[in-house]
Amino acid sequence: MVLTDIRSESKDSVAATLASWSQPGYRVAQLLEWLYPRRAASWDEMTNLPKALRERLASSYSLEIPTLVQRQGARDTTRKYLWRLSDGSLIESVLIPANPALYGEASDRHTLCISTQVGCAYGCRFCASGLDGWKRNLLPHEILGQVLAVERTVASEAKEVVDSSANTPASVSANAASQERVVNNIVVMGMGEPMANYDNLLTALRVLNAPWGGNIGARKITISTSGLVPQIRSLADDPIQFRLAISLHGATDEVRSKIMPVNRKYPLEELAAACQYYQDRKGRMLTFEFILIAGINDDLDQVAPLAELARRVHAKVNLIPYNTVEGLPWTRPSEEHCQRFARNLESEGVTTTLRLEKGHDIDAACGQLRLKTERELAGLSAGSN
Ligand code: SAH
Ligand code: SF4
Repeated sequence: MVLTDIRSESKDSVAATLASWSQPGYRVAQLLEWLYPRRAASWDEMTNLPKALRERLASSYSLEIPTLVQRQGARDTTRKYLWRLSDGSLIESVLIPANPALYGEASDRHTLCISTQVGCAYGCRFCASGLDGWKRNLLPHEILGQVLAVERTVASEAKEVVDSSANTPASVSANAASQERVVNNIVVMGMGEPMANYDNLLTALRVLNAPWGGNIGARKITISTSGLVPQIRSLADDPIQFRLAISLHGATDEVRSKIMPVNRKYPLEELAAACQYYQDRKGRMLTFEFILIAGINDDLDQVAPLAELARRVHAKVNLIPYNTVEGLPWTRPSEEHCQRFARNLESEGVTTTLRLEKGHDIDAACGQLRLKTERELAGLSAGSN
């Protein structure tokens, strides 16, 4: 029998289970404390729960956290984590410091980019995540487990640093090793199309948002989608105030359909109507992501239709120079051209940022590290046969 992971359960459901086992009410808070602020990776760590209760929990739920396979990047820079899940699947998360610290001091605010699927079925031509197709949806605990696993990893690194310094007071050591908050913002922009895994995504994000769970404000959580219209409308109808980013990458159907097959199913007119619906319901600003790819979607004649769409749905635009993917022919335009594109868009009255993208050197674009590792592993096993 496959057990549900306890971190896929809501507080109410955990409380109902413990009550049905005649446990005193305070056990719920103790258990949640282990699951979230303390990010326990095993039942044995939960030392203030009676052994019999831990055994009963262990026979009723799984308790899994992604296992670190590889980490690229250093403290205070963009770091990329490759994780293995219990079925052997590989996924990745990217930790981006908000303000890279000066002089080696730790920067305290970070955004974590998380994955929602193993692979992706949407096949955008420029993206590494879809190159080997779609394998499966992540379960809620695998989505939110990336946050816990990163925080556990960072805390244990901090502990190693502190422990290796003989002069460090014990109180600093204890603090660094335990519950320090690392992730303040979440962007659902890793591998996979989050809206194609809608129910698991929302279950995970609700736990990350809950005061008893991740305690991360809904406004600090951004979902990025390639434009799944029915799910954009569902999210608009949900009272929770997550932020929404649309991967546009083309301002006319002709350009967009060439690089994003999803545009044939939900063309720009339908997508714009769904965005407008979202804006009407939420009253908040959307973001359009627009990667600039040389000779593909960076012609200045994209500016006017892009501005028109952005004004219509009250969106700001993030321009992102394309991050090259091994095995794909695409390249980024020159910096001058990106700046010209940005200036023209701004002069049309659109709030525009040209993102100085981080992590170019460590395959930070979604899906790249996993793809490389999967292919290396495939090469290895082919070679050993
Ligand atoms: N499937 C969702 C979320 C994951 S992709 C979506 O498409 O929105 C997150 C963002 O990374 C998207 O905007 C995607 O278009 C962008 N992206 C993919 N490959 C990229 C690359 N090589 N360089 C820069 N951005 C890329
Ligand atoms: Fe999938 Fe998003 Fe990559 Fe498109 S850009 S293939 S939807 S992960």
